[in-house]
Amino acid sequence: MNSAIFQLKNYILQSNKILVVGHENPDGDTIGSVLGLYGLLKKMDKEVYAIFPNDAPEFLKWLPFFNNCLIHTKSSQKVSQLLAETELIIGLDFNELKRIGKISEEIKKLNCTKVIIDHHPYPDPFFDIILSDTEVSSTAELVYRFIDRLEWTHHIDDSIATCIFTGIMTDTLSFNVNAHRPATFETTAKLLKYNIDRNDIHRKVFNSFSEQRMRLLGYALHQKMKVLYEWNTAYIWLNKDELKHFCFQIGDSEGMVNYPLSIKGIKLAALFLEKENHIKISMRSIGNVPVNEIMKNHFSGGGHKNAAGGEEYHLSLEDTLQKFESILPLYQTYLWEK
Ligand code: 5GP
Ligand code: MN
Repeated sequence: MNSAIFQLKNYILQSNKILVVGHENPDGDTIGSVLGLYGLLKKMDKEVYAIFPNDAPEFLKWLPFFNNCLIHTKSSQKVSQLLAETELIIGLDFNELKRIGKISEEIKKLNCTKVIIDHHPYPDPFFDIILSDTEVSSTAELVYRFIDRLEWTHHIDDSIATCIFTGIMTDTLSFNVNAHRPATFETTAKLLKYNIDRNDIHRKVFNSFSEQRMRLLGYALHQKMKVLYEWNTAYIWLNKDELKHFCFQIGDSEGMVNYPLSIKGIKLAALFLEKENHIKISMRSIGNVPVNEIMKNHFSGGGHKNAAGGEEYHLSLEDTLQKFESILPLYQTYLWEK
């Protein structure tokens, strides 16, 4: 890890044009990490561009530097041109090229140096430099550690601190999950010394629902949640018509998958959303239930042990739910563990 950090330092110092890239359906961690590192490299007078495969949810668009970033689905030509010219690409918060959608096809063909800074297990050896630590709360925490190790913290300002703080806060659900290490709080304490408004950030991220989003959540919990007590499992499913009815916007399902875990005894929660040509699946768990393995084995996905995602392209929503219920016995040991 240490040698990789210094290798990356040299690449940054030598490169004139740098691209910082986040993952598809960007969340607070990837956006906070990308914009934080973007801000830092700008401060260091680098020509740097922040890129996301598709648009961000409204509740994260207030972040500093967001207006400077490029969204591939909106500016694909500009992104292609930058990719062709760049010397260094730094990917943040993803472990495999698949996670950046269509941009990955272009990146595969490039000769420039490709780096990832990430906290998901099994990073793809495709990348030239891998800064990976699955123990940290978030990629944003890893970005801070990287800056700190290189003694570049004097470049951090209020805007950069806001981005990194937001990344840590969102991936830990406000310090409630993946927040068992003192180092996470030590890093957070250092960030809070900047002029950032923690309460305001929390409100903007977690308490800025539209009325429709709140009603969709109520509907999902009341009408569309199935509890399988024998498997300590509960799941929510929503079809296209329901999403349309509640004027579904990017980000409206964020956090929804966590609610079933608040039922006493539930260890595995899942959310199934019917998209245009596939079913998007999110899973969360408590304890040893390895949702990343479930996703990898059955739904072409992955993630962390307690938070993972995947997709089903071949089955209808109903058949996907049936498939999900049918595989639960395979994980009986974990689901029944005391
Ligand atoms: P979410 O359920 O919030 O979409 O994602 C939870 C975690 O699983 C995140 O860490 C995310 O990076 C990962 N994840 C989500 N969707 C996918 C997917 O389709 N493939 C893989 N490999 N990981 C995913
Ligand atoms: Mn993350």
